[in-house]
Amino acid sequence: MDYQAVLEEVAAHARPYARQGRVADYIPALERVSSDRFGIAVADIHGEVYGVGDWETPFSVQSISKTFSLALVMSQSHDGHDDIWRRVGREPSGTPFNSLVQLEAENGIPRNPFINAGALVVTDRLQTLTGDASTSMLHFLREESGNPDLAFDQAVADSEAEHGDRNAALAHFMASFGNLENPVPSVIEHYFWQCSIEMSCRDLAVAGGFLARHGLRADGSRLLEAREAKRINAVMLTCGTYDAAGEFAYRVGLPAKSGVGGGIIAVIPGRCTLCVWSPGLDARGNSVAGAAALDHFTTLTGWSVF
Ligand code: GLN
Repeated sequence: MDYQAVLEEVAAHARPYARQGRVADYIPALERVSSDRFGIAVADIHGEVYGVGDWETPFSVQSISKTFSLALVMSQSHDGHDDIWRRVGREPSGTPFNSLVQLEAENGIPRNPFINAGALVVTDRLQTLTGDASTSMLHFLREESGNPDLAFDQAVADSEAEHGDRNAALAHFMASFGNLENPVPSVIEHYFWQCSIEMSCRDLAVAGGFLARHGLRADGSRLLEAREAKRINAVMLTCGTYDAAGEFAYRVGLPAKSGVGGGIIAVIPGRCTLCVWSPGLDARGNSVAGAAALDHFTTLTGWSVF
């Protein structure tokens, strides 16, 4: 496969869609990014990396971090011995990523780890396991991406906190059902810090390599059991793009996780991990050009999981 040629063609196809989306404007730090940016990278399972456009430009990972916080919790507790799946489900929510509506009927147990409520539970678990959830996330991502310069964006973290009433409400509501182990202010602070990490398409494609290698890191050491990597990929497919996961599976046919910074990572198990970035979002918070790019990639290669 000539990845570089495929990526050039995908970029030419998808870039015009960038202007159709709207950059996230719930915090000023994200609103400043230009909607014309577009980059895409592929890291194959042997560690070769290819990219086009703005593939080396760092952007705010936002909800893509939820994939890695779940992987880190699973890697530290191997799920047969851990209670994370008693505290968070694995069904698509069909509601927006920051919705409160299902929590009351479902006793404070979020539908899945990739909506905000579920990610807060995972961050809470990580805080208990490591004593410093966001710093352990940063170290984990530096290690997996091979980029020691990865950092938090303080302006993004501060403005998430300033506009964080909805996430605070989700956390307090779950705490009222006894579904948080740590104090709400510390859980939401670590969650905001993890969302603020800046990474490029290259960094994210490389860092997500273990999902394509059935749990193995680039150096052959094991991060997750193969069945755990399969489970994360399954939840990405069914829940990784919020209430658009059905449409995304229909168009793209890959496990994927999006973030409101405009990034999407996608996994082709046994072959490669992709990351695409374009900040213009659709109404559900997924990158418009990013979805178009992944759609075109699986069309050209025939490499959807179906
Ligand atoms: N920081 C964002 C929030 O909590 C992340 C959401 C997202 O990327 N979908 O609202």
